[in-house]
Amino acid sequence: MSWEKELFWELQEEGRVVPPDSGVPNGLEPFLNENGVLIQPIIRRRHYLTKDICHMNVARAKRPGNVSGRGASAPAVAKDDPERCPFGPGKEAMTPRWEGTGSDYVRIGTDPWQVRSFPNLYPWMLDHLNIVETPLHKASSQEVDPNEEALALQVAAQYVQEQELLGRCVVLFRNQGLSASLAHFHWQIGSLSYVPVREAEELSRAEQFHRDHGMNIFDAILDAERRRGERLVGENAAFSVLAPFAPRTNNEIWIILRQAASSLSQISETDRRNLAEILCVSIKGLFAISGNDDLFVIVHQLPPSYRAYRFHVELFPVKPWSGAERGFGELVVEKAPEDTATELREKMKDVF
Ligand SMILES: [Zn+2]
Repeated sequence: MSWEKELFWELQEEGRVVPPDSGVPNGLEPFLNENGVLIQPIIRRRHYLTKDICHMNVARAKRPGNVSGRGASAPAVAKDDPERCPFGPGKEAMTPRWEGTGSDYVRIGTDPWQVRSFPNLYPWMLDHLNIVETPLHKASSQEVDPNEEALALQVAAQYVQEQELLGRCVVLFRNQGLSASLAHFHWQIGSLSYVPVREAEELSRAEQFHRDHGMNIFDAILDAERRRGERLVGENAAFSVLAPFAPRTNNEIWIILRQAASSLSQISETDRRNLAEILCVSIKGLFAISGNDDLFVIVHQLPPSYRAYRFHVELFPVKPWSGAERGFGELVVEKAPEDTATELREKMKDVF
């Protein structure tokens, strides 16, 4: 039928990971090829009616400790046991290796190291890596450090540059607390061959806004929020923080780059430092007003050719989204963003 192709959109790709020096993890043996590389099939399928795409890595279901059918994201190890944490120094042999180097993708510093980046064992993106920004077993927002985050962003910027040359879009985020399978601080970074669904929606709105008003929508947001004042939290030399007009959760905030650039690859070392600083202040500020240590940090950025887009970071607490959100995409929030901004300005007033 002519409509079948439309209904059954599917993309088959693979995640390539060299097993840890310590050996092939349990359950992954069938995915080892003759060259000693783990090839995990990744199937991407689009929803019949919406633009949503699901990514299936069936090897992921073999994750140790995973009980089939009870959520494939069950932690592989006791989540917050420093003794068993594979991300600490001395445990390097337990993490997967990058095919390009036979070891880490990047390791900076010695004795032990300052930052490491290596493949995610169960990839769902292309070149899916972890960036571990500290050898210390840190797990709480109160412990974020601008020097560590600046180094993580340096590694991420290098990755973005490389992936943009391949024509890919980079997905960069940090799960902390409830949503992280390992407590030890880390970022995840990977790429897709298309503009990710949520960014595509934002991009389409930004492009339409530019056609209608001859202005970048993020400049317009900042201009208006600065005049209105009630949701702006603060600004440093390169970035502005605000609580968005229509948040998706309580205490959602955005960090928006003021320079006309859509990609991390276009941001100077100085401004990466500014980003690391404002990020840490924001993360600590959110913890100070909420006591909530379960946080998503979502970096929205697209290759430089998407000129209507703008680099920005969205931070929001992990919320067990329920029927309204999951079932209808309708977002129910108890706290006004104006209150979030007022509380954050109070906590952060010594910084801005
Ligand atoms: Zn650790």
